[in-house]
Amino acid sequence: MLQLKNDHYEIGGLDVRQICEDFGSPLYIYDTAKMEAQYKRLQKAFKGSKLKINYACKALSNINVLRFFQQLGAGLDTVSIQEVELGLRAGFAAEEIIYTPNGVSMAEIEKAVAHGVRINIDNLSILEQFGAKYGNSYPVCIRMNPHIMAGGHSKISVGHIDSKFGISIHQRRHLERLVQSLNLNVEGVHMHTGSDILDVDTFLVGAQLLFDVARDFPDLKYLDFGSGFKVPYKADDIATNVEELGQKMTGMFKEFCAEYGRELEIEFEPGKFLVSESGTFCCQVNGLKQTTATVFAQVDTGMNHLIRPMFYDAYHHIENISNPKADPRVYTVVGYICETDTFANDRQIAEVRQGDILAFRNAGAYCFTMANNYNSRYKPAEVLVHKGKAHLITRRQNLEDLLHNQVEMEWPQK
Ligand SMILES: *Cc1c(COP(=O)(O)O)cnc(C)c1O
Repeated sequence: MLQLKNDHYEIGGLDVRQICEDFGSPLYIYDTAKMEAQYKRLQKAFKGSKLKINYACKALSNINVLRFFQQLGAGLDTVSIQEVELGLRAGFAAEEIIYTPNGVSMAEIEKAVAHGVRINIDNLSILEQFGAKYGNSYPVCIRMNPHIMAGGHSKISVGHIDSKFGISIHQRRHLERLVQSLNLNVEGVHMHTGSDILDVDTFLVGAQLLFDVARDFPDLKYLDFGSGFKVPYKADDIATNVEELGQKMTGMFKEFCAEYGRELEIEFEPGKFLVSESGTFCCQVNGLKQTTATVFAQVDTGMNHLIRPMFYDAYHHIENISNPKADPRVYTVVGYICETDTFANDRQIAEVRQGDILAFRNAGAYCFTMANNYNSRYKPAEVLVHKGKAHLITRRQNLEDLLHNQVEMEWPQK
């Protein structure tokens, strides 16, 4: 991750200014060492249990990142048939991939079954169709909605009472009847209540609710507790204490398994926790603009490349890579998109000059994967720093990429 060493910034031991010089701006840079450290931290927190960590690849879906997690021993959490196919291409075995879609057609679920991946269903009417077609010939996992309001922002909370995700815990009786009458083979139960859950107790309350549901199904292999681990976005920010969570949950889980009569697998599917802090997004200052009340730092990127500040009011800490030792001054950092496109309001940053490289922290999760071509801008390049070397993993786009799927018509002559 991005670190200040003496008077310059490094990622994975490499000078950030040099990486930007080599690959251009704007640029996403990821550090495999931080991904691995986070993966191992979670493993260690749950040691003693049969743990499976499925990387939620919607956070950062470059195939090289998927392969890196596959080599660490992770499974893959996918939410679309395309992510399933990407995971298979990356080298995950079908049974290591769990497919947790929402609101997709039965046809897409049939494709996932044909690929042989694990299926997680979050809708009773789809479950009914699934049962009618496959009966007990294909195992299924059930996604429950525990109705816990959690998550850092209403747009990333998915477990509350009005959420479209999961089967309500109040529908347990209906679920049980469907499972029985369709003779379903329920191999797992699942919940995922959203991103950025602030305290360990919220997880534990959710876990108890999932244990309750699990008692209805005698043939389970795993319980999947989803994700929502919060990572720090600024100094002194709250973060999920995974060590405390691991300790408390391992105890509860052991007790549950003893009562259930069998040792089950405990699964998690973090995205943000594994990749957020590994990523840095670098851009260059095109100019400074002083108005009556504000000093704008205008950068060569916009919400087309990093939408989280505008979309979720997300805070991304900004460092001045080119001038780290300077005294901080107050800036409003804005993008070049022709809309209000603000990355940070009244932010203290080491004195910014035209041409300086600015870096956004926590740019590993939900940043490049949400990038788009609005204003016909090219998407940035991506670089993966692994064992002291910077590898280009996505090249910068060009005009041909913008036109790639456009079909130029033959206009009839007048
Ligand atoms: C997005 C998602 C995750 C990952 O959430 P993070 O907050 O990035 O850890 C896990 N499970 C499901 C089903 C998801 O949709």
